[in-house]
Amino acid sequence: MLHTSASPINCKELINMHFAQEHTSSYYAASANRVTGFPRLKGDMRADVCVIGGGFTGISTALTLAERSYNVCVLEANRIGWGASGRNGGQLIAGISGEQKILDIDPGIADLVWDMRWRGHEIIQQRVEHYEIDCDLKYGYVDVAIKPRHVSDLQAEENRLAKRDVPFEHKLLSQAETCEALGTDAYIGALQIMGNGHLHPLNLCIGEAEAAVSLGAQLYEQSAAMRIDHGDSVRVSTAEGSITADFAVIAGNAYQSLVKSVSGRFFPVRSYIIATEPLSEEQLDTINPHDFAVCDPNFVLEYFRLSADKRLLFGGRCNYFGDDQKVIASQLKPRMLKIYPQLRDIAIDYAWGGTIAVPMNRVPQLGRTAKNVFYSNAYAGHGVNVTHLAGEIMADVIGGTAEKFDVFSRFRSTRIPGVTYFGNAMVSMGLIYYGLKDKW
Ligand SMILES: Cc1cc2nc3c(=O)[nH]c(=O)nc-3n(C[C@H](O)[C@H](O)[C@H](O)COP(=O)(O)OP(=O)(O)OC[C@H]3O[C@@H](n4cnc5c(N)ncnc54)[C@H](O)[C@@H]3O)c2cc1C
Repeated sequence: MLHTSASPINCKELINMHFAQEHTSSYYAASANRVTGFPRLKGDMRADVCVIGGGFTGISTALTLAERSYNVCVLEANRIGWGASGRNGGQLIAGISGEQKILDIDPGIADLVWDMRWRGHEIIQQRVEHYEIDCDLKYGYVDVAIKPRHVSDLQAEENRLAKRDVPFEHKLLSQAETCEALGTDAYIGALQIMGNGHLHPLNLCIGEAEAAVSLGAQLYEQSAAMRIDHGDSVRVSTAEGSITADFAVIAGNAYQSLVKSVSGRFFPVRSYIIATEPLSEEQLDTINPHDFAVCDPNFVLEYFRLSADKRLLFGGRCNYFGDDQKVIASQLKPRMLKIYPQLRDIAIDYAWGGTIAVPMNRVPQLGRTAKNVFYSNAYAGHGVNVTHLAGEIMADVIGGTAEKFDVFSRFRSTRIPGVTYFGNAMVSMGLIYYGLKDKW
């Protein structure tokens, strides 16, 4: 890379420029409302709170804090939304991974947990409206059933929604109705939930980042946190500067390796998505006329939806850990064709992957590494919703209210020996096991 500035480049600048990455070549990066260009951190700054990581967790934390008049800085190693937040399926699904585990040890907080499972949706909807964020937010979602036991699970969920008297439409679909709604006979039933939906995640993340900046937050890109010094104040250093703050929040999720006591407690599971070329009106009418987001119930799951410009975005697992678009497309397209053989001649325009943090105990990992250093990560596949809840919880606990924080902080997942070096191999073995379980 050529350095065009007139001043000579120094070694620290070189470190940042060398390691910082641009967005992966996803459909989202190609259709982002704009390319962010926040500065690199240079020099020593002071803030109330320093947030490490510019995905949904970090940006949502920063925005909530800025709304509450905190002076907040965000350090992002690459670009805002560069990680899972700018690459995911965009499915806005209520619920918290490991929810049942939380209720098993404390059934008395069922109402609180129920409110929390929808809180991320409320925050997103309010922000989209209030800050006028253009992110294709649309409601309409179905959980599909592949086996009879899945139909029973959907029936139980439908009963739960009815009992709670939720303010949106929800109904079970028969096999014939599912086939009519999704243009495939791959499923034997479904639960339609109009309170869930889908959105363009990178545009949401960028919109929230800009909202935080409009309230005074300072965002730095290409500014990886490389060191944390603890004390009454916490000092977070990058290659070219530092932020001294009353509090720090670690929000690097599966991409964070600075604090091993946080990153060693989950499996880094890769998930992949392909985006077709835009489909014709006729094709749309046959495969998804109601524009639902769709998720199957398997451990090794598949999920899909239409983008605003009518591409099919189809996600799932690959037996692969890299980023080669051809390899990803060659593995995912056959699986898409099992659901929609009529799309055989459709071109795949984009293929990309990202890493999901899945803790052993499945419960999102929220906690603290020091009295003034908090972390929040590892939401398994439920991040779009739960990261927004988590941002609010981080802001609450910094403000001295720990009720929701405490629900999660007691579920510290066990440390996984060797996960930093052998994570991919462990995940491969786990997926063989879970893939077999899905077949039962
Ligand atoms: C392919 C895929 C599909 C998914 N689909 C869905 C879905 O449809 N619905 C759903 O709810 N969830 C989904 N998820 C999960 C969801 O995307 C994540 O749970 C969520 O985005 C996590 O957000 P985050 O901010 O915690 O982490 P990330 O978005 O990964 O952000 C972490 C950020 O921290 C930065 N960082 C790391 N270390 C440092 C450091 N030392 N200094 C500075 N910055 C640092 C990284 O560069 C990164 O930008 C999916 C995930 C993937 C990968």
